[in-house]
Amino acid sequence: MAKRVGAKGARSANGARGAKSTKASAAKSAGKYVYLFGARTDGNGGMKPLLGGKGANLAEMCRIGLPVPPGFTITTEVCTYYYAHKRSYPLALRSQMEAGLAAIERQTRKKFGDLRNPLLVSVRSGARDSMPGMMDTILNLGLNDQTVEALARKTGNARFAWDCYRRFVQMYGDVVLGLQKGAGEDHDPFETVIEGLKHERYHQDIEDTKLTVDDLKELVARFKALVKERVRREFPASPWDQLMGAVGAVFGSWMNDRAIVYRRKYNIPTEWGTAVNVQAMVYGNTGETSGSGVAFTRNPANGTKEFYGEFLINAQGEDVVAGVRTPEPVVQLKNQLPKAYAELERIRQTLEKHFKDVQDFEFTIEDGVVYMLQTRNGKRTAMAALKFSIDMYKEKLIDWKTAVMRNPADQFEQLLAPVFDVADVARAKAIATGLPAGPGAASGQIYLNADRAVSASEKGQPVLLVRLETSPEDLRGMIAAEGILTARGGVSSHAALVARQMGKVCICGAAAVEVDYATRTVNVDGRRFTEGDWMSIDGTAGKVYAGRVKTAPSEIVAGLIHNDQAARKTEKFRNFQQLMTWCDEATRMDVRTNADTPEQTANAIAFGASGIGLCRTEHMFFEGDRIDAMREMILAETLEERKAALDKLLPYQREDFAGIFRALKGHPATIRFLDPPLHEFLPQTEEQQSDLAKKLGVPVSRIHSRVAQLHEFNPMLGFRGCRLGIGYPEISAMQARAVFEAAAMVQKEGIKVHPEIMIPLVGFKMELDLQLEVVHQAARDVQAEQKVKLNYMVGTMIEIPRGALTADEIAQSAEFFSFGTNDLTQTALGMSRDDSGSFLPQYAELEIVKKNPFATIDTVGVGQLVETAVTRGRATRKDLKLGICGEHGGDPSSIHFFEKVGLDYVSCSPYRVPVARLAAAQAALSTRTGA
Ligand code: PEP
Ligand code: MG
Repeated sequence: MAKRVGAKGARSANGARGAKSTKASAAKSAGKYVYLFGARTDGNGGMKPLLGGKGANLAEMCRIGLPVPPGFTITTEVCTYYYAHKRSYPLALRSQMEAGLAAIERQTRKKFGDLRNPLLVSVRSGARDSMPGMMDTILNLGLNDQTVEALARKTGNARFAWDCYRRFVQMYGDVVLGLQKGAGEDHDPFETVIEGLKHERYHQDIEDTKLTVDDLKELVARFKALVKERVRREFPASPWDQLMGAVGAVFGSWMNDRAIVYRRKYNIPTEWGTAVNVQAMVYGNTGETSGSGVAFTRNPANGTKEFYGEFLINAQGEDVVAGVRTPEPVVQLKNQLPKAYAELERIRQTLEKHFKDVQDFEFTIEDGVVYMLQTRNGKRTAMAALKFSIDMYKEKLIDWKTAVMRNPADQFEQLLAPVFDVADVARAKAIATGLPAGPGAASGQIYLNADRAVSASEKGQPVLLVRLETSPEDLRGMIAAEGILTARGGVSSHAALVARQMGKVCICGAAAVEVDYATRTVNVDGRRFTEGDWMSIDGTAGKVYAGRVKTAPSEIVAGLIHNDQAARKTEKFRNFQQLMTWCDEATRMDVRTNADTPEQTANAIAFGASGIGLCRTEHMFFEGDRIDAMREMILAETLEERKAALDKLLPYQREDFAGIFRALKGHPATIRFLDPPLHEFLPQTEEQQSDLAKKLGVPVSRIHSRVAQLHEFNPMLGFRGCRLGIGYPEISAMQARAVFEAAAMVQKEGIKVHPEIMIPLVGFKMELDLQLEVVHQAARDVQAEQKVKLNYMVGTMIEIPRGALTADEIAQSAEFFSFGTNDLTQTALGMSRDDSGSFLPQYAELEIVKKNPFATIDTVGVGQLVETAVTRGRATRKDLKLGICGEHGGDPSSIHFFEKVGLDYVSCSPYRVPVARLAAAQAALSTRTGA
């Protein structure tokens, strides 16, 4: 029986980021809604809040002389205006856009809507932080039945012109006119039309590039008919109408479902809004010397310094990211278009030197000439982030502090992610291979649709989401899944990017995996898998296995916890150690651990904990028969009975404490006295009660009546914490004796021991004082009996609001405080930590709470209580030691808050210690630099 699993299980992977005000930039930019880039560039890379990440970096690339097609950015302020004014625009926008378009026309010598040389543009979203695939993009805008002919004449390439038109009608229909798959449809309706035509005319699923001019004309006609039938509107022919519709759709997409889910997950404030980029089209689909690609300056999956990415010949960018065709590795371009490859290599070097970080960029090659469409800091796995940071430090691109900051603390847990058990995987049958898109090993029951994946995961099943390709609609399913497997798509497809960021194991483009949505089955290698069957994937090697495969810990865990020498020699292990050394250099706060057993303590020390911040002594009684003695103690009706039960408990506790002190090797241990919410310790069912009666040799009726007597309506606010020790001082006396006897024993073995006894749930100074007397008496007794001098402290938890508000009084008696933010959150918010799961998701949906307050500290409310207690406590006792041991102690953004209020340490579960060390170091570095 884990204690209060509800609150503790609910961890957030959210990053640490606060909304910064954009007011300053708003004042400067008043009235200017359009920023040009190209021959004249108004913006720069530092203007992300106003121009969005994409717009700011397009401007920056123009400034450093990279080949960027000209365009303009409509600012994020217009997005804010749009939502504040019933989806309308500022008056001056249209004329500024006209001037922007005229600038593009001058530079390209083409004209928007022209019947000789028509200009086509792309319209793309671009938020301050990239939100891959979440918002909308429209390409080839400006085409209609007349301009398509003009484009065909001008280029002498009718196939190209009609391919653009086909793409435009499809994209515009989907994004702007909202013609998407309906409920119950698993396939995009436009794709269904394409497949229909292919089968009608060719009786098979041919590649898009094989479609003829006549096929494309027919598709355009069928698409328009589909639009008319489903949307009940004519497809707009006027380029300006198309442009304004597209701009509205991009702004509108800021509030689409998947963008909202994404923002919530990554803590991106709604107020930021998106910018819109309008840019001259360059064409990757003019023939065999053209193409589109997405590349990273280094490998974002494992961190290797190699040109990494993929491209498709004769394709537009959307084909690469949408995962409809499986692209080729970018290095292949060396053979196919060597000049363009050399140019891309040059660009790769320039980008890293300038941005000093790994870039993820999009390019188009039009008739052999390379154009840059976007660059941004590449999303990366934790493993890649670690390697990038250490390598770039060695290459003198960044200093060590920057290297520390480059490791996202909220992803860092991935480094401790499991790999397949070597013996087990050797026995498993590899049935397919795909592209290794998200590292780690996952085993789960397959589901072919996001909703069913979510409900299976809610039932506690480990889920593997299997799709032909994923689209942003699948986000919820991806979040719920242990791993993601797709049949199509490349390493930069939506599935891959999102999976990596979430730390999900992922394989893309496993072509041998045949997904049949209709029958909910997957055929691979002659086998048929039905939903609910097990499969396993190795996202590091790209291998798919039939059945369930056991997982084994990562090299870091193997090296640190199991002292595996081979693991310790790996680059990953050495890089991890280097990073942790820098963290220690940077950090101000210590990181302790919440551990209740010698083994947990040893693990945490191996992960670099500097002591125990919380030992929950009641957890020591969960094991084996110990719970019986504990129950006997709770159920005792007389002092004698209770003492008899306590006599049984004392040796257990003494042994456990001694083991913990030994494992600590001189580090301090905060030992919290019993805090057993009674409902968690008493037998609840008839069966358990009669079992216990037998064990104790008492009639079951006695157990019944005692349980009834002890029944509490709200046991979390009941006879808990110090209330128990005040009611029954002999319990605290036993615990104090166990601590001191163990301390004396281990000290005599030559190991330094620093027990810090902690009294829980204190709201009145008097409560603490009563317990102090008992503790000091036991200390005096044991020191006299054992003839030793013990070095101990006594302090309290601050975990109810009264305790925080009267911290000045409590600090007169307490030598230290540890904030129990689990209870402090529950009592400050009046929300039960056990039951809040039933309504918190809706609260998050409505943004009443931005994040789960039991996972990430509610700085505005609960945080005030912490700050008050810090100020008042230190006013009484200058050297008062302050820590936090609630679940928030392992949460990166909460750790930033604790740094800000000046706590001495955070304490978290052993496996989160490395995350907390990294977050504490980053918090110290950014507090120092004011970032
Ligand atoms: C807390 O309340 O934050 C705490 C650490 O104690 P527990 O979770 O055991 O109540
Ligand atoms: Mg508590």
